[in-house]
Amino acid sequence: MINFTVGPVQSSENVRKIGSENVPYFRTPEFSEIMLENEKLMKEFTYAPDDARVVFITGSGTASMEATIMNTLTPDDKVIVINGGSFGQRFVELCEIHDIPHTELKMEFGKGVTKEQLTQFEGKGYTGLVVNIHETSTGVRYDLDMLGEFCKKNNLFFIVDAISSFLADPINFTNNSIDVMITGSQKALACPPGISVIVMSSAAVARVEGNNVKSMYFDLKSALKNGERGQTPFTPAVGTLLQIHQRLIDIKADGGVEAEQKKIAALAADFRARISDLPLDICSDSWSNAVTPLKVRNCSAYDIFTTLKDNYNIWICPNGGNLKDSVFRVGHIGALTTNDNKVLSDALHKLADEGILK
Ligand SMILES: *Cc1c(COP(=O)(O)O)cnc(C)c1O
Repeated sequence: MINFTVGPVQSSENVRKIGSENVPYFRTPEFSEIMLENEKLMKEFTYAPDDARVVFITGSGTASMEATIMNTLTPDDKVIVINGGSFGQRFVELCEIHDIPHTELKMEFGKGVTKEQLTQFEGKGYTGLVVNIHETSTGVRYDLDMLGEFCKKNNLFFIVDAISSFLADPINFTNNSIDVMITGSQKALACPPGISVIVMSSAAVARVEGNNVKSMYFDLKSALKNGERGQTPFTPAVGTLLQIHQRLIDIKADGGVEAEQKKIAALAADFRARISDLPLDICSDSWSNAVTPLKVRNCSAYDIFTTLKDNYNIWICPNGGNLKDSVFRVGHIGALTTNDNKVLSDALHKLADEGILK
């Protein structure tokens, strides 16, 4: 199979090799050193300041979204949640569950946030803004520079779910005035699922320290404390953390985060050029390099997914809910090549020739 989904995605040979080995014992100075290096490289690749901290949560991306809401916000906050799809909706529900006062900015399908939409919230006592910078469910990437400037100007605590955007799109923790950035192991990090990562500014750390979280596993105070010596409070997904370490040092050796972003951007551009003659419409204002969201015209998007899976050994990413039949997505993250793009493009052209894609 060739995997063009948005996670789990294909891993490099170096990463897969670690997956075939026994998982080592982890309360050792050797593992601590690897974890400290993971923290250092995550800070380097997000352009986080020296006093930022990074915690690695054993749990998928949603675990870190929930931990962030629980630990860095309180009922005294009042936050804006940008909701442009299923991941935005998840933040809305997390705020409801944890009693965080919030206002939802509900986005039209495929649309980015405008300055005018933000201005309405100025001077109304808001304390924070929560966004999935790439709303993976629709492929829309919001304007991080604009959101960061808005948060800085209005002194808002800025929470960025960059789970599918980290490594695929430019993100600058410092310049974009970010307080919390979240990512996960199975997106552009291209490792197995199981680990999510939270990068925190010193202001975020102070919020965690001052918060009384009613949870053992999700109380980030213990994660921060243990992280000082490169450890975690509980047994983490040790194998996945070793794979993340390999991946991070490979990225560094290959020219760093910008080179990686360029690679993913080039893959996305290559694919988009190959399919420009097909009856498919790119359905968003501004897209992430991680994904191309495509709208079909006169057929079922889900049937295209099934046909490619069953007859061509290719996974693309189907959409859920009311987009199931109209939209599918093609991911550009993970160990993919332009030749893989050609294989998918050839298959799509064949489906078009046969009148299946129309
Ligand atoms: C994948 C993803 C998540 C997390 O999903 P999990 O299944 O919990 O890993 C959250 N937000 C965005 C934007 C994502 O792309």
